[in-house]
Amino acid sequence: MCIIRHAQELQTALKTLRLSAPASTPLTLVPTMGALHKGHLSLIKRAKALGGFVVVSIFVNPKQFGPNEDLSRYPRPESDDIAYCEAEGVDVLWMPTIESMYPDGFLTKVSVANLGDGLCGAARPGHFDGVATVVTKLFGQIKPDYAIFGEKDWQQLAIIEQLNRDLDLGITIIPAPIIRDEDGLALSSRNIYLSAEERQSALSIPRLLREGVDKIQNGDDINMTLSYIEDNLYKSGFSKVDYVSLVDAKKLTPSTNESKGTLRLLVAAKIGNTRLIDNMAVIKS
Ligand code: AMP
Repeated sequence: MCIIRHAQELQTALKTLRLSAPASTPLTLVPTMGALHKGHLSLIKRAKALGGFVVVSIFVNPKQFGPNEDLSRYPRPESDDIAYCEAEGVDVLWMPTIESMYPDGFLTKVSVANLGDGLCGAARPGHFDGVATVVTKLFGQIKPDYAIFGEKDWQQLAIIEQLNRDLDLGITIIPAPIIRDEDGLALSSRNIYLSAEERQSALSIPRLLREGVDKIQNGDDINMTLSYIEDNLYKSGFSKVDYVSLVDAKKLTPSTNESKGTLRLLVAAKIGNTRLIDNMAVIKS
């Protein structure tokens, strides 16, 4: 596995890789912020299953963190991450320096209107501009045929699909299902912030989401169901519920009791200092 940290070396490494196999060999990118867990590894395995080259990026992108967020304490277990990628058969591990991503004079911001404004965008102003900018930059640097993104970050996935379409980037975006711990908690690099007690309380997120999905699919009133989930998150020890929303799975517009088709039930809530997100599919016929 080739570990690359500087932009100039990346282009040489990618050229060498491309020349080492038939031109039709696909290249798949798995963008991450590191602190890899089984959720990330499932994305890498999906990428490997496509049969070509796999590039994993690890970059804790400062542009997607707000001023009072956890940028400085975000976990960075570099040698573990390298070992995981090696074990999964990754071809290139792109761990850029800040200067490789945002050299002096970097001015561009990519912003996907509307899709980035609500849900996590409302609670984290500027977050999705940071995500869209770094992902567009990674796409430009690596020019992958495929890129894998987890459904765990549902809004992020919708935004990236939109920018890929709008900007004719021509990359095939492959969504990957949410990987959960045995007790149901969605895996996240931020779960390590949770105390044992907080982690126990956090289980109410998948439990209430599951209950909410069943209620809505059985025809219960949407607003009452969303309030039920929110109230019970507070009762379980969450200090701030940013949102509990049912939206159109692609447009992310709020659903009503009359909505039909594929919807998504999403939650973001804080327990102690840790903000957790999760979501589940809702099918209404
Ligand atoms: P992150 O390192 O948190 O930026 O995540 C990198 C990629 O891994 C994103 O596409 C996430 O959606 C995805 N991801 C994170 N956690 C999970 C999970 N539990 N299951 C599936 N994908 C995940």
